[in-house]
Amino acid sequence: MQFSRGCPFQCEFCDIIVLYGRKPRTKSPEQLLAELQRLYDLGWRRSIFMVDDNFIGNKRNVKLLLKALKPWMAEHNYPFRFNTEASIDIASDQELMDLMVECNFNAVFLGIETPDEASLALTQKFQNNRDSMTNSVETIVKSGLRVMAGFIIGFDGEKAGAGDRIVRFVEQTTIPTAMFSMLQALPDTALEHRLRKEERLLDRDSGMNQTTLMNFIPTRPLEDIAREYVNAFWTLYDPSRYLDRTYRHFLKLGAPKCRSRVREVSWVNVKALLTLCWRQGIVRKTRWQFWANLIGILRHNPKVWEPYLGICALGEHFLEYRQIVKDQIEVQLQAYLKESSRDRVRELDVA
Ligand code: SF4
Repeated sequence: MQFSRGCPFQCEFCDIIVLYGRKPRTKSPEQLLAELQRLYDLGWRRSIFMVDDNFIGNKRNVKLLLKALKPWMAEHNYPFRFNTEASIDIASDQELMDLMVECNFNAVFLGIETPDEASLALTQKFQNNRDSMTNSVETIVKSGLRVMAGFIIGFDGEKAGAGDRIVRFVEQTTIPTAMFSMLQALPDTALEHRLRKEERLLDRDSGMNQTTLMNFIPTRPLEDIAREYVNAFWTLYDPSRYLDRTYRHFLKLGAPKCRSRVREVSWVNVKALLTLCWRQGIVRKTRWQFWANLIGILRHNPKVWEPYLGICALGEHFLEYRQIVKDQIEVQLQAYLKESSRDRVRELDVA
């Protein structure tokens, strides 16, 4: 579902502000509640992703929505769990976070991009430099919102070791699901315009996923960036590290504030649980860690056992995906290196 469009910020690489503008527009609370009612009448009882570009882009309107949503959710026994995307300045508005949690928002995706302050300034993501990002993530998690986050490598002027710095930040903040990619210049963005002027765009289909090389010439060797990227991706989704982060994150989250009385036990869920226990609790080397952590959750924060296991299960995707990322980036990198050495030979011949 979608409540708003647009975002007030001006990150150089972002196409949202090109497509939808910097003045966030929202639906009315009545309209959104009518849409939720329709889903409810159709029998939907699970999670809903609010696909807003920045859910808190218009804080005044979003608070009006949440104040109307709160009694609606209570009257309907909390039929939905919400997830959404928001800018990190959500951490400075406790009232907003509390309202979200009271409306059964479970998780929020933050565009953190990089812990390197110089890169954030250069890409005009000034909102991430206002406060300590580590403290902001801590505040959000302790308020009861699980954090997912996006990270990017390959900004201009970036110093060697950016991949390791991202891994350290993710470990420190305990973010289980860190989406990671190399920077791409998307069509019509400020970044693309600047790179076009600087004649640094490559004639390569940018792709829009984590398995493609950058589509422009970076300021440090592409090979170094690609290798750091693959290594960091590999390390982030090491099964033991992933289990450890997920465990620490769910301990910090605290117990959920809303407890839905709507429960759906389906064969699909039971099968998923059995598959998870088989793969992570019996087959994999980290099996003892899996059971120790699960016991820890049941002892210290038992009400989150279900979402906790859901995020453990998500690790299966990342474990497979890190191999795909490694293989595909390696193939493209080899092709790029071959092409570059051919170009160098040609230049020498001409000289
Ligand atoms: S905060 Fe997110 S949506 Fe807003 S301009 Fe930056 S990248 Fe785009």
